[in-house]
Amino acid sequence: MNGNTHLFIPGPTNIPEEVRRAMNLPMEDMRAPDFGDFIVPLLADLKKVFRTETGRVFVFPGSGTGAWEAAITNTLNSGDRVLMSRFGQFSMLWVDMAERLGLAVDAIDVEWGKGVPAEDYAARLAADKAHEIKAVFATHNETATGVTSNIAAIRTALDAAGHPALLFVDGVSSIGSIEFEMEAWGVDLAVAGSQKGFMLPAGLGLLAVSEKALAAHERAKMPCCYFSFSDMIRLNDTGYFPYTPPTQLLRGLRVSLDMLFGAGLESVWERHHRLGSGVRAAIAEWQGCRLVADAPKWHSDTVSAIYAPEGIDARQVIETAYHKYQTSLGSGLAKLAGRAFRIGHLGSLNPVMLCGALSAAEMALRDAGAAISPGQGVAAAQEAFRMTTPPVQTRSAARAA
Ligand SMILES: *Cc1c(COP(=O)(O)O)cnc(C)c1O
Repeated sequence: MNGNTHLFIPGPTNIPEEVRRAMNLPMEDMRAPDFGDFIVPLLADLKKVFRTETGRVFVFPGSGTGAWEAAITNTLNSGDRVLMSRFGQFSMLWVDMAERLGLAVDAIDVEWGKGVPAEDYAARLAADKAHEIKAVFATHNETATGVTSNIAAIRTALDAAGHPALLFVDGVSSIGSIEFEMEAWGVDLAVAGSQKGFMLPAGLGLLAVSEKALAAHERAKMPCCYFSFSDMIRLNDTGYFPYTPPTQLLRGLRVSLDMLFGAGLESVWERHHRLGSGVRAAIAEWQGCRLVADAPKWHSDTVSAIYAPEGIDARQVIETAYHKYQTSLGSGLAKLAGRAFRIGHLGSLNPVMLCGALSAAEMALRDAGAAISPGQGVAAAQEAFRMTTPPVQTRSAARAA
């Protein structure tokens, strides 16, 4: 292998050197008298990424899928009616989990390329006068299709119907990368994972929970043990865990939070918007390619899913990029297999790295027979990045100004 290999999948994402170094340390005593001094502020700071002041956060060993399960088993009862929608692999899997855990799921199927059907949710909530629906689920950013949904619109639908259902949001590929406002949007359970916007290895299932959902937890009777909120709360309050926590990941999380706050969350969101826009500018130039997201209002700033031109197998594009150009692109999941490939543009990335991703994708597309002129998409991305990227303000530049 010559030089670097390149990772442009929508998770796991690239780990910044600072974070990687922070995790390279000897094992430590998770019951040490001063370990709690590290954990209490870490959890308090994690709340800021979810944008909640009144809720609380949970850090479980696991991944996003584990956090999904924790959210359901801690707050609902088997047989509870819930409202969900499916429009990609991840929203589909969440429905599948809810059914397997014994919930009575009203699942709305939406064409892939669109997102949460807020109008349908509004109609169903308004019609549910008896308040049988206990929870409403929304996948904020469907990573399989590159579709972002409007969570505030779902809160509006709940409020307009005067409906008390809990609002569950899968923010695994959005939180820490694009705008997410737990408190302002009235989200009750928000799920994230360490290996996407948090720029860490997989291994942590992250969860933020509102006061209302914590009250529901008091009444919930679904069996739940390893992921129990109550056990976690009892020990977290003094900075400890009910079982061995992955201390290196927590040390890494400390640094990734410092990096997010150092840049400013709004500025992180804005950078993802610039990166996503540049990638979309390139895709618009690729003859025969188009986004799976079928309207600008669904465009995701963290991942683009791209239909390969007619007659070209997207799997071949991905394999060529990997073997010939040392570049990992995301695959087409479930019914998009062979039809689409993905470019992840979240986490520790900058425009020049993405020009590399686009360049590899373009070469692999041409190798597969796509009618794209060399550099056509990359040129469009370059211009988009050139026009929108602010200069990095160094201390010497600040002094000179
Ligand atoms: C990655 C992802 C998940 C699954 O998370 P794991 O960490 O792989 O368990 C769930 N939902 C979305 C939207 C994702 O992007």
